[in-house]
Amino acid sequence: MTRRSNDSMINEMVPLANRLLYMQVVRLVASLGVLGYVAAATARVTVAPRLVVVGTLAYLAFAGVAHLFWHLLGRRNITLFGALLIIDGFYLCWVASVSGGSVSPLRWIAVLHVMMTALLASYRTAVKLAVWHTLLALVTLQILDAGYGAEAFGVKHPPALDHIATACFVIAVWLSAVGTASFAAMNERELRRRKIDLEDLARMATDLEQVSTPEEVGSTLRRTLVEAYGFSRLEILAVHPDGVYPLEAGAPAVPAAGLDEVVCRAIEAHRSVLVAWADPRLNPYLADRMPNAENLVVTPLFAEGNAIGAVVAEHGSKQTQRIERRVVSMLERFCAHAALALRNAWLLEEVRKVAATDGLTGLANRRTFEEALTREVARSARSASALGLVMLDIDHFKKLNDTYGHRAGDAALQNVAAVLLDCAREMDIVARYGGEELAVIIPGAGPCEAAAVGERLRAAVEALGAEPRVTASVGVASYPAAADSAEGLVRAADAAMYDAKRAGRNRTSVAAAVDSVASRTR
Ligand code: GH3
Ligand code: MG
Ligand code: MG
Repeated sequence: MTRRSNDSMINEMVPLANRLLYMQVVRLVASLGVLGYVAAATARVTVAPRLVVVGTLAYLAFAGVAHLFWHLLGRRNITLFGALLIIDGFYLCWVASVSGGSVSPLRWIAVLHVMMTALLASYRTAVKLAVWHTLLALVTLQILDAGYGAEAFGVKHPPALDHIATACFVIAVWLSAVGTASFAAMNERELRRRKIDLEDLARMATDLEQVSTPEEVGSTLRRTLVEAYGFSRLEILAVHPDGVYPLEAGAPAVPAAGLDEVVCRAIEAHRSVLVAWADPRLNPYLADRMPNAENLVVTPLFAEGNAIGAVVAEHGSKQTQRIERRVVSMLERFCAHAALALRNAWLLEEVRKVAATDGLTGLANRRTFEEALTREVARSARSASALGLVMLDIDHFKKLNDTYGHRAGDAALQNVAAVLLDCAREMDIVARYGGEELAVIIPGAGPCEAAAVGERLRAAVEALGAEPRVTASVGVASYPAAADSAEGLVRAADAAMYDAKRAGRNRTSVAAAVDSVASRTR
């Protein structure tokens, strides 16, 4: 045997040790059959029955010792497997020869032997064994033809009978080798495919442990499915309380119209739905993302009984192409795993969001503000650009609370937060610095622009229509004009805000520019 075939046998799904053991069982059963036949049909045995018993026991002992030997020495060595098969051939040929020659019923044990070898070893080994049994049968036939039959085995038939019986035997041996090996190969192929499926599933589970965002879950699922089953196109839709969206970074939003008909159908059915063609009028999203898609399999994503999305895969471009049941059931398994990972990614996102935002106003909280300010100051320093900071404190808020109650105070705070968010640009960061003090980071804003923004925000708060009416005092500072660090910028804006308070409230005060080097050395 070559090294390659050694390896391939070792890598088979049933370990070699088990195969060898099963083969020993086959030998034992065959030997018992021989002994039983000898006991029942002593008249047909042409040698002393005791000789057959001794020969059988010697054969079994040899096989047993060889097995033991295999255990003690190289466990990976399969030469022994082949050597034992050769011995089996000799033994079976001998017992057949001494119990009727070419017409002995014991001859047919060789057919069973070939079948078991095809099942337990390989197609190639079974074919080699068929060659071996054929060779032995032909040699025996030659001996009979030469007239040595009676002398050697004590049997004598008309030559024609020997020829026909041997031909039947050889045909049976070959049919059993080829037939059994073909069926076994089919079975083994199927098992191997399932093994690969499970390995893919395990790999995806490991990959999912490494990712944390919903988009990463989506790309992991997409990559695994496309690699494993070669889907030509694949879409993953996430159904989130915020809306329906493609689980892919940068993908265009799903139209507000909602879910496509095929996706709804799969979610309602709670299982995969196969469609040869999706009507573009009922499935506008799919029509847009997968134009002219055919042979779709739509698998819903469920987590804890809730529909959280669906996978739509195109598995071929011809109308006639069918998807294997195995692929659909594996797709469902992959989706079930990914759905849980997606649910966890959403929960993690939620936790991160809660940890980063203020519960009352929905603005960034103090921690997020400080992280953002440090990051923005560093960015401004790198790019030599300005950064504005506005600190806004609601005037006489304690009095408002005392007069109208804390609920009204809360509502006023929420209104002020909303108006700041409304006025801010997308890149600005609006935060609740603490109590009734709010802050806005304005990347790129120098002293003048920051002052203008501060004044605009103050005016917007004053213009709020909601009762009780509020005003705010605003302090503005800008990096690097008024400070050379994040902490310095907060201090400067805060000081400016207190200037505004002292100056009579409901006004904007701008921190004076300082020579940062001079201020550090003073
Ligand atoms: P000033 O014009 O000098 O800023 O006066 P002020 O009353 O606004 O300032 P002070 O610091 O004396 O009082 C701030 C008040 O803000 C006290 C506190 O009860 C109130 N406050 C802080 N956080 C909240 C909140 O989340 N909800 C409500 N309703 N009130 C809050
Ligand atoms: Mg105040
Ligand atoms: Mg205050």
